[in-house]
Amino acid sequence: MGGFADRILYFFCPRMQRPQAKQTDEKCPICGKPMLQKTSRFGQYLVCSDNTCKGKVNLSKDGEKVMPEQTNEVCDKCGAPMVIRTGRRGKFLACSAYPKCKNTYSIDAEGNKVASSGPIQTDHVCDKCGKKMVLRSSKRGYFLGCSGYPKCRNIVNISDEEIAQIKAKHDAQTKA
Ligand SMILES: [Zn+2]
Ligand SMILES: [Zn+2]
Ligand SMILES: [Zn+2]
Repeated sequence: MGGFADRILYFFCPRMQRPQAKQTDEKCPICGKPMLQKTSRFGQYLVCSDNTCKGKVNLSKDGEKVMPEQTNEVCDKCGAPMVIRTGRRGKFLACSAYPKCKNTYSIDAEGNKVASSGPIQTDHVCDKCGKKMVLRSSKRGYFLGCSGYPKCRNIVNISDEEIAQIKAKHDAQTKA
């Protein structure tokens, strides 16, 4: 299974594989197929040899596998445990069921979930589909978006007063 003989084969048939990819004995955490070692400008990493599979494990400078850190957080979308992953913008909480579930949260320097990262539920009801609206933020400021997004793209602009009220209510709920 992917051992010495395969390596010899790849050694003699370099065209079977792109030169920057190296066969390893590591198994893909998602599908169990062998993984290939590649180098990007962010460092070394392992990718699944099946290019339809998104299995990927980052490697440290010493070639050690960088496993996501376990946490006590549970994904509120699918119930799987959340793990700490490191992306280009720093550490974040990601669902361990990725890529099936793509739920993520921002975390602060201590690794605590940043409560305000997700949209805040409000009592406003979407006048197009009847679902609850959530407070979202964009570069231009806060607005109410339908929780049925992306099926319903209804957006309502609200006053600063209303935004303050929603935030105050949300803070009271999260601290309770
Ligand atoms: Zn895989
Ligand atoms: Zn999840
Ligand atoms: Zn809607």
